[in-house]
Amino acid sequence: DSLQPKFKRVLLKISGEALMGDQGFGLHPPTVQRIAREVKSVHDLGVEICMVIGGGNIFRGLSGSAQGMERTTADYMGMLATIMNALAMQSALEELDVFTRVISAIRMDEVCEPYIRRRAVRHLEKKRVCIFAAGTGNPYFTTDTAATLRANEMACEAIFKGTKVDGVYDKDPKKHADAKRYDEVTYDEVLAQHLGVMDASAIALARDNNLPIIVFSLDEPGGFRGILAGQGTYTSVH
Ligand code: UDP
Repeated sequence: DSLQPKFKRVLLKISGEALMGDQGFGLHPPTVQRIAREVKSVHDLGVEICMVIGGGNIFRGLSGSAQGMERTTADYMGMLATIMNALAMQSALEELDVFTRVISAIRMDEVCEPYIRRRAVRHLEKKRVCIFAAGTGNPYFTTDTAATLRANEMACEAIFKGTKVDGVYDKDPKKHADAKRYDEVTYDEVLAQHLGVMDASAIALARDNNLPIIVFSLDEPGGFRGILAGQGTYTSVH
């Protein structure tokens, strides 16, 4: 393999919606399998990979509470949704002979491992993909914040945030033909201009620990792998 990865350990964050394909809800196995192949192609380069997957394709705490559900309960339901997504990704990766561990912030010992930092680091050193599930384990947070937290704890060099577009734009490029993509943008610009990369607590946590966030398109075949080797278009938030 001639590609030289520029990173040794990274965290890939994808939303739950990235797993639902063209359906309006839930899991679309061919889409999960496609993303698993992208992850494998990076794993094949020898990069150590952490993953955090959202749960918005199944349940979001905020929409539950908007419909009258108690917020904390609704958030726990959202966290449980991320465990389902993590298991789907684990299954797809292991089908490709990539060894994985699902590591949950909420104990569910029959289903996956509990989060023990040193153990997770050891899995990474043994080239197992660590899929961190159940967010931070706390209500009122998001999986973006969980991604930033775990990336810091695992000493990842960057967060790769896979989205539907190839970076951060000044306005929605799917709605405005004249939207402009940034090559680089600072954390403070993201916060001040509400650029919608991640929620504010996630951005602030990344900023305070100098953790770069690389926003790229997950719809571009080979995109994740290319960007790890310094190719393709993306926005670097730093
Ligand atoms: N959630 C939470 N604490 C966390 C992470 C997630 O309470 O640390 C809940 C929250 O209700 C959220 C849901 O889980 O709406 C799904 O996560 P998220 O919205 O981040 O998923 P995504 O938008 O990335 O699919």
